[in-house]
Amino acid sequence: VNSLKDYDISFVKLKPGEHHFSYEIEDAFFRIKEPSLIEQGNVNVHLILDKKERLMNLSFQFEGIIKTDCDVCLDPFNLPIKGNDTFVVKIVDIPQESDTEILYLGPNDSSFNIYDNIYELICTSIPMTKSCKDNAGKPKECNPDMLKFLLESNSENTNIENQTDPRWDKLKNITD
Ligand SMILES: [Zn+2]
Repeated sequence: VNSLKDYDISFVKLKPGEHHFSYEIEDAFFRIKEPSLIEQGNVNVHLILDKKERLMNLSFQFEGIIKTDCDVCLDPFNLPIKGNDTFVVKIVDIPQESDTEILYLGPNDSSFNIYDNIYELICTSIPMTKSCKDNAGKPKECNPDMLKFLLESNSENTNIENQTDPRWDKLKNITD
């Protein structure tokens, strides 16, 4: 599964009622549209599509891991993610602008694509802060060399701020 077309849903041929779709997201998924916030991951996505007369309710469930960087030590680690969301597809005579919750299709449309939906689902499931301790399976220790480096460069910065400009010191001497 590694092209945009793999995420097309040809709904005209589907009977009314529930239909199940499964997608195994791998690294290639994130390369379909670039640039991507995520480059590597393994996520299982399950979609239940409930087809009605001129309406389809899409219900997504997903679980897996993505490779990302620790906010503290910048080392890569495997972040577990999971979640669910719903989406509506409406067939109308004159399609209006779609938004993040509803997709409007015209009477002659026969398919739509859910790549962006899945991508958004995965991206929005990433927490604001993430660190090695979230590592899938078992928590990881932050990279000790990096922590040491960050600590040292932090104290260096503070020293620079505390130092006065020597030119001002000279001036100060004059005025004194
Ligand atoms: Zn870390």
